[in-house]
Amino acid sequence: MFWAGRDTLNEIRSLGVQCGQLGVPGDLELTPQLAAEWKTSLAQADFPLATVFAAYNGEEYTDIPTVQRTVGFIPRVTRQEREKRTLQVIDFASAIGVKSFACHIGFVPEDTSDPDYIEVREMVRRVADHAAKNGQSFALETGQEPAEVLLGFLKDVGRPNVGINFDPANMILYGTGDPIEALTVLGPRVVSVHAKDGDWPKKDQPGALGVERPLGQGSVGIPQFVAKLKEIGFRGSLNIEREAENQQERISDIRKAVGYLKGLA
Ligand code: MG
Repeated sequence: MFWAGRDTLNEIRSLGVQCGQLGVPGDLELTPQLAAEWKTSLAQADFPLATVFAAYNGEEYTDIPTVQRTVGFIPRVTRQEREKRTLQVIDFASAIGVKSFACHIGFVPEDTSDPDYIEVREMVRRVADHAAKNGQSFALETGQEPAEVLLGFLKDVGRPNVGINFDPANMILYGTGDPIEALTVLGPRVVSVHAKDGDWPKKDQPGALGVERPLGQGSVGIPQFVAKLKEIGFRGSLNIEREAENQQERISDIRKAVGYLKGLA
């Protein structure tokens, strides 16, 4: 996934990337003109998008308590404004011809009678129904809860167009479980994936997140991940996600990741 402007599409292509996901920051004004420009740019660059991904104003990923407090649909104070924003991003995605929307919804409580669980489930249903009107799927990003909890939530939501954007590194960064086992559990619901790597959180630092690593250098076991994707019959794109110290390192890591993944094909 690449949080980029339209002018960088050619640069991304030059890295050997053939398709991708578009990240939409919370403060980006989504106008019909912007959608028309993106549609043209994507067509000119011959760059298909699998997904439009939303981030929201006020989200922070410093550590697990901060994620719980600020990310996705879970925080009560921003829930209403984020629902409105989500529907706008979905319509923007539709306007540029993208058939899947995704975001982090935040930490889903394990207790299904928790008021936040119930309200967020209802919100996911409304969002999914809006996406369904455009013929789109809604993919929830993995990582913040164990596979079984997420699967139980999906079943409870009960909408056929709701699935998963599977991020194997997140399972490790949040300490929620072995990603290859999780993929076995969640396989039939996987709509799209992130190719990302990382190491587990340090045991002596409660609440800390693990550390993201260049693809192939972390604890995911990317060859096993790719093999498992083939085994379950996944046919979508491998979307490289990389947050590095700086843009130069990021570009360099993405270029290496493309070569690394091609070597596994
Ligand atoms: Mg991800």
